[in-house]
Amino acid sequence: MRKRIVAGNWKMNTTPEQGLKLAKEVKALLNEAPADVELIIAPPFTHIASIANEIKSCRVKLGSQNCSAWEKGAYTGEVSVEMLASIGVSHIIIGHSERREYFSESSEVLLNKLKLVLKYGLTPIFCCGEKLDERDANNHFNVVKSQIEEVLFHLNPNEMAKVIIAYEPVWAIGTGRTASPEQAEEMHGYIRSIVEKHFGKEIGQEISILYGGSCKPDNAKEIFAKPNVDGGLIGGASLVVIDFIAIAKSFPK
Ligand code: PEP
Repeated sequence: MRKRIVAGNWKMNTTPEQGLKLAKEVKALLNEAPADVELIIAPPFTHIASIANEIKSCRVKLGSQNCSAWEKGAYTGEVSVEMLASIGVSHIIIGHSERREYFSESSEVLLNKLKLVLKYGLTPIFCCGEKLDERDANNHFNVVKSQIEEVLFHLNPNEMAKVIIAYEPVWAIGTGRTASPEQAEEMHGYIRSIVEKHFGKEIGQEISILYGGSCKPDNAKEIFAKPNVDGGLIGGASLVVIDFIAIAKSFPK
């Protein structure tokens, strides 16, 4: 059985105090979420350590929204994977479309990050997804295939087995416009098929593929009902704890 996962990407929201309050609220409502759903929260860097302390005795996993592509040394302003691992981070989001777009992160940079995340025994959540003009031009499958080939195909099968993929159509992120369940399923099935073709059936079938893009309590059920959708990477709705937990309750029984 593939892992069911709901991961909250808080982005550049909340002060440390607000973030700690949010984490406490997640903890308080945790029992409402099914036990077989893995919950991850990814706060901004400034609050990760205090939130790590707050959630250390519960089942919520700690994520980071980013990490450095370098291991250590003279890289002013960077935060290394080793630092994140040392304070209890278990998952790192790699290649979010906002990082690709606003920080010009190339596939080469993403591969360096991914290798470091795996070297330190953490789990990468690798994001891919097409822009609106690419979908309109019917080029979305090629775009996503290239994003995967340029990064994930450089891993060996053991490494690949540890990766979580998040399909996030850029036109659906923070826009209130969601991919239809059929569009999500079509792309998730495609992603699984290319992973399977390159790494073998077992890895293709075992890997969790999350959907991201304006996922909310009122659309999560339909999207999570699709066979190749194993959960969600949630932006805006992860800042509203009842919505985040409601999304975690949206998997088919
Ligand atoms: C995201 O940032 O990964 C995301 C999916 O955002 P939102 O849910 O707000 O569209």
